[in-house]
Amino acid sequence: MAENDIFNSGLIQFEQKPGGIMNNLENKVAWITGSGRGIGKAIAQELGCRGARLVIHDIDRESAEKTAASFNEKGYPSIALVSDVSDKAEAIETVDRIKKEFGSLDILVNNAGITRDNLLVRMKEDDWDLVMQINLKGTFLCTQASAKLMMKQRSGRIINIVSVVGVMGNPGQSNYAASKAGMIGFTKSSAKELSARGITVNAVAPGYIETEMTAVLPENVRSAFIEATPLKRGGTPADVAKAVAFFAGPESAFITGQVLHVDGGMVM
Ligand code: NAP
Repeated sequence: MAENDIFNSGLIQFEQKPGGIMNNLENKVAWITGSGRGIGKAIAQELGCRGARLVIHDIDRESAEKTAASFNEKGYPSIALVSDVSDKAEAIETVDRIKKEFGSLDILVNNAGITRDNLLVRMKEDDWDLVMQINLKGTFLCTQASAKLMMKQRSGRIINIVSVVGVMGNPGQSNYAASKAGMIGFTKSSAKELSARGITVNAVAPGYIETEMTAVLPENVRSAFIEATPLKRGGTPADVAKAVAFFAGPESAFITGQVLHVDGGMVM
């Protein structure tokens, strides 16, 4: 068999686009929470260039609409939806609107997340609650609303964006680390519950990634993260997006309940 023939052998059933990008998500419908900017936007771009139809979702209307418009211009069919992931009624309504617009929901990426850093002894209860509400409860609510539709379809891919901090801890981030560790436990439990219906649930744990979220960090914190990264650089949103695309696509069909670190070797 010639080297390239593996793509036509039936072993791997997807085509390559002229640009060399695998078109393996053709017509799949993907809801990426918090995708108006940052890592979520990069994930949407990666899934879009593999053929997915995109739900660009954010709490901020302007960034959701701007991002969806830019993707439509590139030829990735996209709609903009606005809601707060931590509101149960809004999560249910979002899934209803996706169903009306596209007829199905194949991929959910729980990406929306926030930080409210402070040392444990100084942390305000409100900052603890808000981080838990958006990162952990938001993941639960969006997953619950989506899983009901995916269970009827008997297929689906759920990918939770966690963090290395949820595995190794970080001073000043006890609320954020606890929310991400909670998301890892949630990933494994929901993977076990949903597997019988053909739904996989996995997590991607980024290390230090250069985005607006990390741009606010002081220079000494930034350099300490890079120093702790064996590959000696910050990651890019595109690095994270490639791992998400793997869990969203057919290549990962037999993988569920896993946490894939995209961290330049920070945790190993
Ligand atoms: P980001 O630039 O702050 O983007 C987060 C997006 O989520 C924003 O568009 C934000 O909207 C939206 N959002 C916030 N609260 C929301 C809510 N309640 N409902 C819906 N959307 C909401 O952050 P990022 O760096 O891209 O991070 C994305 C994910 O990766 C997060 O879960 C984060 O914890 C995780 N992560 C990031 C890093 C890193 O180094 N950057 C490392 C590990 C993990 P607004 O524009 O209105 O704020």
